[in-house]
Amino acid sequence: MPFGKALSLFKNARDRTSLRQQITFLAVSFCILSASAATIGAYVVARNESLRESRWDLTLIARNLTQRLDQTVFERHREIGSVSNRVVMRSKWTTDTATVRATLDQLQNSVSQYAWIGFIAPDGTVLAATEGLLEGTSVSGRAWFVNALEASPSTMVDEFPTKLGNHSPHIPTKTPLNRFVVTASPIRSDDGEVIGVLGARLNWSWAKHALHEVLEGNTGEDALELLVFDKNNMFLFGSVPGGAPRFDSSDTNMLTAVVATAGQSDFPGLGWKVVARQPRSVVSVTLTGLLFHIFLVGLGVSLLAALFAWLISRSVSRPLIGLIEALDGIGRADGDNNVARQHGSREILQLSASIRSLLRRIDSAEEVQRDSTSKFQQMQGLISKQLRMSEERNRQLGADIVNLKTLAELDPLSGLQNRRAFQPFAEDAWAAFRRHKRAYSILMIDADYFKMVNDRFGHRAGDDVIRQIGRVISGEVRATDKAARYGGEEFIVLLRENDAGGALVLAERIRKRVEDLSIPFAGEEISITVSIGVAQVLAEDRDFEDTIARADRALYSAKSSGRNQVSIDDPVSKIQSA
Ligand code: GH3
Ligand code: MG
Ligand code: MG
Repeated sequence: MPFGKALSLFKNARDRTSLRQQITFLAVSFCILSASAATIGAYVVARNESLRESRWDLTLIARNLTQRLDQTVFERHREIGSVSNRVVMRSKWTTDTATVRATLDQLQNSVSQYAWIGFIAPDGTVLAATEGLLEGTSVSGRAWFVNALEASPSTMVDEFPTKLGNHSPHIPTKTPLNRFVVTASPIRSDDGEVIGVLGARLNWSWAKHALHEVLEGNTGEDALELLVFDKNNMFLFGSVPGGAPRFDSSDTNMLTAVVATAGQSDFPGLGWKVVARQPRSVVSVTLTGLLFHIFLVGLGVSLLAALFAWLISRSVSRPLIGLIEALDGIGRADGDNNVARQHGSREILQLSASIRSLLRRIDSAEEVQRDSTSKFQQMQGLISKQLRMSEERNRQLGADIVNLKTLAELDPLSGLQNRRAFQPFAEDAWAAFRRHKRAYSILMIDADYFKMVNDRFGHRAGDDVIRQIGRVISGEVRATDKAARYGGEEFIVLLRENDAGGALVLAERIRKRVEDLSIPFAGEEISITVSIGVAQVLAEDRDFEDTIARADRALYSAKSSGRNQVSIDDPVSKIQSA
């Protein structure tokens, strides 16, 4: 689709060119078009005017020639008329041939335009003639002769016998040699009877002369042609070299003016037509120069217009470019996100005002967004603070729970764990023994005669004693071991990875340290001893409680053996005793 393609090409080109270039291009195109239109218009007007003037010039030239021709022919016509009426000749015409001939010769000599003058008798016979030419011959059939004989003077073109061609004038063109202008006038006797005809044939030199004079008076006219035709449109003479041209006023290549001879006073003229013509191209040639000058002026004006358009478009596009640069800078550099007010035209003013208001609206919208963002961030901070607080509370709660658990499992008096807290360790030790044969031992410790302490020093003293015994036990056991207040003044110790031998050593050490204790109370020193039963786990134990029961038995054995001693539930001796 060639149109669509051209359109897209045009759009591409339009997008690539600046506003300024476009304005300049449009202005220059407009000026060139205007200059061309003005040139063409001026050419058409000037050509028509020039053609009209040229045609008028040709008419004047043709009229000039017709007037000259008329003048001469009229003068000869009148002259012959006047000679034919000469009173002195009236008696001589028919009687004195010599005088007539002499008179005619005199006339021909005085007026060079006469080629021949003759006196013709009413029967057509030439009686007397200049230089005796044609005397005795007959012209009876000639129209001019017949007319003149009928008492009317006549001047016309007539064809003469060829032998008169010698006297043909030197006309630049080939005029038919045997055709001449003849003027004739009747000659009357005293009583008014026509007694003959005076006839004169003109040579063509007068015509040639008139033609040359007119041509010389118009040497400025290029390729001017002058042609003379008789009333039958037969070519007579002219300035055109070559063959006899035809009478043709319809040739479109030629600018033609035709003027007919009109005669003078009572002489009606010969009815000739003078054609003055010039090729139209002559007019065109002069106009082409004119056209070129007009176009040059137009081109100069176009260049000036281009310069003006370039300058004007700069003032049009400058504020736009300013706006574009200001808009382009927004958001790139620090500073106010706004553009300076641009001047240049009302539209530019409005555009810059619109952009400024748009940017202000964007700014306030951003501010609203910033506000809501900061509110959101505040909310977020609040929420995370709440979260942190609740986490802290949870942590505190957890710690509290741990503390509570510790408190719940701790015996406040002895500082050891209580029986409930001891239970999971016992089960764990039992499971390890069952699964991995890892041995453990149990120590059951009981204060000797504790009741007596209470009884003697009071319950608080008893508490002090329990506290001291607890301190001794916890000072002796390892981190892997577990000691607990089992009830009243009774303690239990679980020794992991330990056999009865090791347990025995530890028990003895505890027993000794308690024995060495001296607990001050109310100014007195309280002494105390403990009995300790030791048992090692055995394969036949059904559960942890079986081990405890055997340690308990060993404890009873220590009590019954006198107290303040360690007793072991000895499996070897048991086996032996069994
Ligand atoms: P043995 O040598 O046979 O063990 O004699 P004992 O007096 O120690 O034994 P008994 O079981 O007869 O007496 C224990 C007493 O310990 C009974 C109880 O009043 C007292 N007792 C138990 N728990 C506490 C306590 O927490 N504080 C005080 N002060 N006394 C306690
Ligand atoms: Mg007891
Ligand atoms: Mg006791």
